[in-house]
Amino acid sequence: MRKQIAAANWKMNLTYQQGTALLQTLVSAEIKLKENHVAVFAVPFPYLEMAIDTVHHKYNYFISAQNCSDKKSGAFTGEVSAEMLKSLNVTYCLVGHSERREYFREGNQMLAEKINLCLANEITPIFCCGEALQTRDIDQQNTFVEQQLRESLFHLSEEALLKIVIAYEPIWAIGTGKTASTEQAQEMHAHIRSVLQNQYGAPAAEQISILYGGSVKANNARELFASKDVDGGLVGGASLIATEFIEIIKALK
Ligand code: PEP
Repeated sequence: MRKQIAAANWKMNLTYQQGTALLQTLVSAEIKLKENHVAVFAVPFPYLEMAIDTVHHKYNYFISAQNCSDKKSGAFTGEVSAEMLKSLNVTYCLVGHSERREYFREGNQMLAEKINLCLANEITPIFCCGEALQTRDIDQQNTFVEQQLRESLFHLSEEALLKIVIAYEPIWAIGTGKTASTEQAQEMHAHIRSVLQNQYGAPAAEQISILYGGSVKANNARELFASKDVDGGLVGGASLIATEFIEIIKALK
């Protein structure tokens, strides 16, 4: 059974005290996760240790980094390596969020390196992909996303691919309050699965969790997650509000 995942992306928000209080509220909420349900919190680097300590006793709660270096180690001031994350027991890492692609010029090849380093350190990459509005306006979103997958993931063996989570995040829906319709989300998720199937076969493609991201809120999560190929969400703004994110976790199918 595919994992259904509610992943919070705090981005560069919340002080340490606010982040600690938010996570404590979430872990004390009575949410019963099913065996295939997972809650992931992508927190800023300085909060990782606190976050791991806060969730360690909670069933199927995990902590994620928001990024890692594409280099193994060395003279890269300000960078954080996958190996460092592993040494803190971090188990997930976002790779290729559109904000990293846009503001930090991260390209598909660099992201392939990050994926390799995460996997080498037993960290599950949450690989983000998705098109800009101009690309959707000319109906090129499928080709665009396929190229992102091809250039960052298709060097992997089937065994390695199965360790990846994919997040489809149309850029025009991130932080804008505009959500893809359930039809648009399902259509792209099915496309992603068929691209994976063509390369790796149906059994592998069926096992990969594909999350939707882009203005997921408590009031639209259930409908979005109900679609056949949508296996939960990657959530920015609404993950900063405990009551919202609790409802989003509860909306996992
Ligand atoms: C995100 O940061 O990945 C995201 C989807 O943000 P938001 O939910 O705020 O649109």
